[in-house]
Amino acid sequence: MQFGNNRASPPDSLELEVSVFGTGFGESVLVHFGEDRWILVDSCRDPETRSPIALEYLSKLGVDISRGIKLIVASHWDDDHIAGISEVFTQAQSAVFACPITLAKPEFEVVVAVMTGTRFVSGGSGADEIFAVLKEIKTREEGGRGYHTARLAEANKILLELDGSSHVRVQALSPSDAEIVSATQRLRTIPIPEEGTPRVRLPRFHSNNASVAISVELHNGELLLLGADLEERGLAGVGWAAVVNEWPHHRGKHRVFKVAHHGSRNGHLDDIWQVLLRENPWAIVTPFKQGGTRLPTRQDCERLLGYTDLGRLAGGRYFTRYRDPDPAVRREIGERTRAARFVTSREGQVRLRKSINTDEDWRCELFGDANIIEASFIARID
Ligand SMILES: [Zn+2]
Repeated sequence: MQFGNNRASPPDSLELEVSVFGTGFGESVLVHFGEDRWILVDSCRDPETRSPIALEYLSKLGVDISRGIKLIVASHWDDDHIAGISEVFTQAQSAVFACPITLAKPEFEVVVAVMTGTRFVSGGSGADEIFAVLKEIKTREEGGRGYHTARLAEANKILLELDGSSHVRVQALSPSDAEIVSATQRLRTIPIPEEGTPRVRLPRFHSNNASVAISVELHNGELLLLGADLEERGLAGVGWAAVVNEWPHHRGKHRVFKVAHHGSRNGHLDDIWQVLLRENPWAIVTPFKQGGTRLPTRQDCERLLGYTDLGRLAGGRYFTRYRDPDPAVRREIGERTRAARFVTSREGQVRLRKSINTDEDWRCELFGDANIIEASFIARID
């Protein structure tokens, strides 16, 4: 991450901030809600330094991480959202950790036991991150220090609420009841491994469906909608349709949107824009590139531009073959996968700031590889 003077200047104590980081394969969102207090949603690593991007950024700002981060949310356990999240949590000694309830006890324990017992689950996977987070919570418990158990997120649950001049209220909007029932059903089909039997990697969960979207209310009623990778499936009771149906209108509309699922068509629902968002909102997308997939597509960007001219893209758009500097790791990757492809392009940051006590709009700054989603940008997409 390249730091000019401006990028490394911290927000004032009475200034709000929303920073969205993207790498092309990974996203991370930081919110400053006043008085040096922060929330982190998801984690990814800086492609060059391999440190969690959020840690690197907060350290540059001079934030006391052990006290400053109050809440860390893993929206779901896909690799592009959780890389390094346990590392951040270990340093953030006063943070509450939240993740989707769809991996609740005892399912949670089964998943951890099965997945961490598998040799070919290597670093960076969701299983390793869950395991490390749980271990850290255990250490805090045994150390006799104040600690919080993991908070399991589901629709309408409050994950954090603080009052005073740095008012904040973080409410999960998903997974919905129907999604929880369906996830529990799926977990029942997982066999519990017996002693001595070879272990296999679990079938991939449709974790996007159970992804935790969040509404953050800041001072002065300012609302942020953090869409995670939640998808719309055209069914009442699940996905975005459920979120829209459940949203209490009296709470108002969101001014800032971390666009769901990398701006893709399956994360889109017109009602998100009509019911949950204010007119012409700030809409920040992180790209996702892997194999032949590239999000957002040209059509996705065109659709977004139809809703707002304040669209921004955070993160690298170029794809290269990953080459780890450590030969042992290279050999490992070669043995385990046919073609390990990771994005090593530059990271990007979209940063919004505004003073706590005014009605002024957010000021937007772009750092690293970040773009305005406008006609001339769309024209360059092949
Ligand atoms: Zn994702």
